[in-house]
Amino acid sequence: MPDPASSDPVSGKPLLLVDVDGVISLFAFSPDAVPEGEWLHVDGILHLCSARAAQHLPRLAEHFDLVWCTGWEEKANDYLPQWLGLPGELPYLQFERNPGKARAHWKLQAIDDFAGHQRPLAWIDDSLDEACRAWAAARTGPTLLVQTDPSVGLGGAHADELRAWARAL
Ligand SMILES: [Mg+2]
Repeated sequence: MPDPASSDPVSGKPLLLVDVDGVISLFAFSPDAVPEGEWLHVDGILHLCSARAAQHLPRLAEHFDLVWCTGWEEKANDYLPQWLGLPGELPYLQFERNPGKARAHWKLQAIDDFAGHQRPLAWIDDSLDEACRAWAAARTGPTLLVQTDPSVGLGGAHADELRAWARAL
């Protein structure tokens, strides 16, 4: 089991924090235009997992150390690496369920605890907000926020942007 407590930068690659709902598991799409993908049962709930995300995410692992940054937490490893064709489980962030008002976005404290302030990181998520943008601007290390549309998820343009950013570091 990968250690969820800290980020080990031995690979020299930047981190890619990967949200699941709205990035890999799609929602809010029109019933007339269901995206290509596969329906996975996760604890009795059906999730449409995007074929396009499955096409791009494993290739991004050549440029990034991937980390789950999702409310799925460790459950992401039970379902997704095999389906996505990743070589194995990924480290995952664990979130404080009651972070209080100190942090406006519920994922930021866990990201700081895992990655620190210096390690280059990109974060792909469908629900980034002003607090995330202010946090990214204040980080010491290079930081890229990539916002997805939850009905479309991770696509080719996002993957291109991420690769170009990683290469430019
Ligand atoms: Mg999400």
